[in-house]
Amino acid sequence: MPEVLVAGAGPAGSVAALILARAGHRVTLVDPCLPVRHRVESLPAHAMPMLHGLRLGSVIQAAELGRAVETELAWRGAPEHRHHANPPILLHRPRLHASLRSAALACGVRLRSGRLGIQPDGTAILRGNTVEALTSDVILDARGRAAGGLRALGPARIALPFQARAPRTMPDRMRLVAGPDAWIWLACHSGGQVDGALLAAPESLMGTKPDTKRRMIVEIVQDLTEISLGRPCPATLACATPWSDGPVIRVADAALARDPIGAHGLTHAFRSAVQAAAATRTLFEAPDDAGAARAYLAHRHQLDCEAAWQATCRAYADQARYATPFWDGPAPAPQPDLPRPEPTRRLTLNTRATRVPCLSGGLIRWTDGMTLPVSGTPAAHLGGVAAPILLDLLSTPGSASEMATRLSRVAPRAAVPALLDHLLAERVLAPIAEPDDIKRR
Ligand SMILES: Cc1cc2nc3c(=O)[nH]c(=O)nc-3n(C[C@H](O)[C@H](O)[C@H](O)COP(=O)(O)OP(=O)(O)OC[C@H]3O[C@@H](n4cnc5c(N)ncnc54)[C@H](O)[C@@H]3O)c2cc1C
Repeated sequence: MPEVLVAGAGPAGSVAALILARAGHRVTLVDPCLPVRHRVESLPAHAMPMLHGLRLGSVIQAAELGRAVETELAWRGAPEHRHHANPPILLHRPRLHASLRSAALACGVRLRSGRLGIQPDGTAILRGNTVEALTSDVILDARGRAAGGLRALGPARIALPFQARAPRTMPDRMRLVAGPDAWIWLACHSGGQVDGALLAAPESLMGTKPDTKRRMIVEIVQDLTEISLGRPCPATLACATPWSDGPVIRVADAALARDPIGAHGLTHAFRSAVQAAAATRTLFEAPDDAGAARAYLAHRHQLDCEAAWQATCRAYADQARYATPFWDGPAPAPQPDLPRPEPTRRLTLNTRATRVPCLSGGLIRWTDGMTLPVSGTPAAHLGGVAAPILLDLLSTPGSASEMATRLSRVAPRAAVPALLDHLLAERVLAPIAEPDDIKRR
């Protein structure tokens, strides 16, 4: 039976190992198993359906500290209060690691303690009580940023987690506060306790004394007292190729580590674990589709990098309290202005059927689909409708309202406007040039 080695028992490694073990594979998970440093992180509620689908709802709940019903922002001109109808979950990081790890072990995953060194050709050396070469058919590298080899995409950033007291702070809130040369995220609990992180450029944090670091924090959020500092950790948006020629697949932060300003790393870590586990299962269970697995991971990675980059740019550009070099970032790409065509304007199909990689039932396979012209995304479904059905429905030109009527035969009526917008934004449907347009040119 093939052997899978998963390096790193963080959120991504534990989940990937658990999925593979449930599918009947032999999995060894390697981690130094050092005490996990205290940190609190937020998980958006929209990640929960995926986690319930993985039967991990109660595993996540075991690490839950509470929900953030509101976020207070001092980010743009005036202070803002953003109410969350579906509140994000505040997670206790050490409990999250422990809970996911024990779920993986309960599924039959074997845990080895030590640091794994990995070569691109799949050579793996475990350094624990002894030094040992480990053999495997596939290695999932889920060592997070410790995997190394990441290329910076965004401005260099360091995160400094801390705990403090803020007696006047309301519990079950998050706060986001921009300073001139840094920003702070806070999770507020009952009794005036807060967990937070200061995000700054490395040159303003490294080598400074603890008191200077505390001063930096209080300059941004004045009401914090009794600040206890954690250990600084890298937080630059950075990426690496997820799967080169060898048997090593990088997962989650080891392939794309985000700047916390722009994205939810945990959601990405869980999704990436699902995708990497599916690619691994495909190699063993449906080897003819190995090319689909490679194409799928490469394309997801490209889309994720682009989305993380755009989200980071938008978050920096959105900050309007300070115009200092720290906040000078690349501007987000302008969103194409897509006026909705007149309901009578004739549209034509602008793409063709092609084979695309698709993750379904835990495996990645080639299936019938289409390529979306603007983003280049291979799509097997759009708005929940299979691509071949859409291509068939939209194959004859028609007005926007005729297209909407046809879509309503296969999609819920309420979902049709969004689906039509998506088809237009991706130029799957393109307006046919009318004689007047040609004259105007
Ligand atoms: C300060 C800060 C705040 C954040 N806040 C949020 C937030 O609020 N919400 C959110 O969604 N995301 C947040 N993130 C991002 C989130 O923490 C990461 O995206 C997520 O933890 C990535 O999971 P991972 O499993 O890929 O890597 P990691 O969590 O880094 O896990 C890596 C694992 O690999 C192990 N390891 C390391 N080296 C080796 C080795 N040589 N051999 C074997 N094992 C090894 C480690 O012990 C660890 O268990 C934050 C990040 C930072 C830095």
